Amino acid sequence: MHKTFYIAIMFIVPFLVAVTHLSCKRDITKIEEGGRDYASRDESALNVRILLLDRVKKAELSVDGRYQILGGLSNVVDEGVKLDKANVFIENGWINLGGKRHYNSELRIKDLGGSGIVLDSIPYRGEIRILPQTDKEFSVIEEINIENFVVGVLGCEMPNSWEEDALRSQAVAIRTYVENRRKAKKNEPFHLDKSELAYRGMLGETAKSVKIVQDTAGIVMAYHGEIFSAYFHSTCGGHTEDVNLVFGKEKLPPLSGVKCGYCENSKYYTWSVNIEKSSILQKLQKAKVNVSNIVSVKTVNHGPGEHGSEVEIIAAKGKELMNANRFRLLVGPNNLYSTAFTARNNGKNITFSGKGWGHGVGLCQYGVQGMAKKGFNWREILGHYYPKSELRRIY
Ligand SMILES: [Zn+2]
Repeated sequence: MHKTFYIAIMFIVPFLVAVTHLSCKRDITKIEEGGRDYASRDESALNVRILLLDRVKKAELSVDGRYQILGGLSNVVDEGVKLDKANVFIENGWINLGGKRHYNSELRIKDLGGSGIVLDSIPYRGEIRILPQTDKEFSVIEEINIENFVVGVLGCEMPNSWEEDALRSQAVAIRTYVENRRKAKKNEPFHLDKSELAYRGMLGETAKSVKIVQDTAGIVMAYHGEIFSAYFHSTCGGHTEDVNLVFGKEKLPPLSGVKCGYCENSKYYTWSVNIEKSSILQKLQKAKVNVSNIVSVKTVNHGPGEHGSEVEIIAAKGKELMNANRFRLLVGPNNLYSTAFTARNNGKNITFSGKGWGHGVGLCQYGVQGMAKKGFNWREILGHYYPKSELRRIY
């Protein structure tokens, strides 16, 4: 979501696991202990599986410290004090790692020294699993403790310099989102695709992000005891949006949309961009949307945040109605910032004027920072953006 922050984070020296315990004030009187289906758990159950690479033909892997390679769950097939850069590829259906062929259906690489496993230049804290998919392709899954994962995502989703209560709110929203996916996909090979959240492994870790996540360790949001999909986005533009309108998902009070009023400082609060008509057409046609010669574009079926649920494209011949979110993702989410826009045909270009950045559902990141600056604490902030939600400590 915030690409510039990745770059900033690249230069932050990683990182310290040994963090002193937090001194922040914490009022747990409003936090319920336990939750449905989460009454007891052991440590090993707190891992989350992230799809890092999907059906690729090659990757590069290294470990700057002690490591172990397992074929399957417990069979050690290799170990050493340092793994130099090694190419990974599939050879006749078997995994080749650094020139050595392994006759295992899966390889698990464990970092025993704590420096992380570097996969295609990004260091990861969890265990890396290589899974052949075809005779030539493989996928890579990271299995990592959920709290460590929240630390990594927090550092990429929100600037480290922001208010601590803004960061705590974001951490709880991330943990809630991840727990929801963990439960929904508990029997699947992975819980989350890396692209669902901003995540760059250990590059997102800082001393502050570790401390912030510890402040709220194990705390999630629920509605009537159920951990929900706590969506978040950069800037709502004044009012957050109803999940039913944006994603077509079942209505839920915490995701029904609220007046924000705290994100005016975002440079995406209002915006205007010119996008070449030919570029839009090309992207739509590539996705098999049957349009040519666009005359006008407008959003329809607006929610309280003025995001359209659909886009009507009038072409020289006929018109096309499509899901607004899909239209935005096809045109480019970093060009067309939101679906709360009006459009004007300028001949060669279409000028989109709109507000907000992102889908508009759930927590508004710039709004959270605005509330924290005004002195609201993280529990109040979450209560505002996810109305009627409850806080629960599940482990
Ligand atoms: Zn907002």
